[in-house]
Amino acid sequence: MTHILVINSGSSSLKYRLLSVGAWPAPQAAVRLASGTVERIGEPGSPVADHGAALDAVAAELAAVGFGLDSPELTAIGHRVVHGGRDFTEPTLITDEVAERIERLIPLAPLHNPANLAGIEVARRFRPDLPQVAVFDTAFHGTIPAAAATYAIDRETAERHGVRRYGFHGTSHAYVSREAAELADRPGPGGPNVIVLHLGNGASASAVAGGRCVETSMGLTPLEGLVMGTRSGDVDPGVLMHLHREAGMGIEQIDELLNRRSGLLGLCGDNDMRAVERRVAAGDPEAELAHAVYCHRLRKYVGAYYAVLGTVDVIAFTGGIGENSSLVRERTLSGLDGLGIVLDADRNAAGKGLISADDSRVRVAVVPTDEELEIARQTLDVISRTDRG
Ligand code: AMP
Repeated sequence: MTHILVINSGSSSLKYRLLSVGAWPAPQAAVRLASGTVERIGEPGSPVADHGAALDAVAAELAAVGFGLDSPELTAIGHRVVHGGRDFTEPTLITDEVAERIERLIPLAPLHNPANLAGIEVARRFRPDLPQVAVFDTAFHGTIPAAAATYAIDRETAERHGVRRYGFHGTSHAYVSREAAELADRPGPGGPNVIVLHLGNGASASAVAGGRCVETSMGLTPLEGLVMGTRSGDVDPGVLMHLHREAGMGIEQIDELLNRRSGLLGLCGDNDMRAVERRVAAGDPEAELAHAVYCHRLRKYVGAYYAVLGTVDVIAFTGGIGENSSLVRERTLSGLDGLGIVLDADRNAAGKGLISADDSRVRVAVVPTDEELEIARQTLDVISRTDRG
């Protein structure tokens, strides 16, 4: 049996999951042995001073369930890394050089990559003998063609500063699109075409043709695209200049506005979709507008990605909202019979597996995401390839 530890290291928290997975090439059979989150890293008064102390806490939690972090049974460690830039479009075995290249990408993800690196550094110090693999949030989107990845701005400026569309949530889009492809009825010769709608606190859509991602809604940063809990998603870039000139807002204030005070929160004061929907049910007009803006944006992306793909076999909903809100799914896809998309009301209300009607040409499904399992699979894949030379 193969044991993989998955680490998702943030600036103030470290999430982990220990999985026991079937040997390559059948890593599908996975059993979660332990999981948890160490919180408040480095905060005043916290017993967890830094990421090193956080890993010690993980070791203690694993020991309490009978597994030593120093155990020879541990096969590898997989690390989530948010930004791989143009350097990394595949999960990658971590060496000193790889760690340095991740460090050089910090300007593209100033909040996330340093925290991811901190997790990598302490884990490599703890287990220098083990293969450790970086699985990048951007990697699955590395196949997006230039026409979709390029912003129509001055080329030299864009190239000098790495300004292009990278996309995020890649491990979720990879996992869910593969699961969804299994549900396709009669896919074309290139394999099933899938639209994935990952709707959590952050939200993104992707278009996947025969297993390859060809479009995604997040861009240089996770701010572009869909309406999110606190992020605006798409706005006219002219809004930034207008706010600067007319309201005297500086760049940090605009950053804070668009990332933390926009989206559902900005529109109605609640960023939790459950709260928004309770207010919608009670007839609250602000919540109703927030919900309507959210679903309209989503519907627009479904239409756009339908056109990008030409034909669609499966539309998959995932993430906390995608998996649980029948109202979002219904409002997003209602009245699209002309595109061959017909929801079944009872199945949508039940919200498990296929939710489209039997006569719907496009199948619609709820597919719970599992990013940790995907990181474990990709980690195993990398070390199996390395072992086989
Ligand atoms: P995630 O980031 O994937 O954990 O998703 C978080 C989002 O899922 C929050 O906006 C929650 O309000 C939303 N969510 C969770 N459960 C439900 C539910 N039953 N109905 C509507 N939204 C939900």
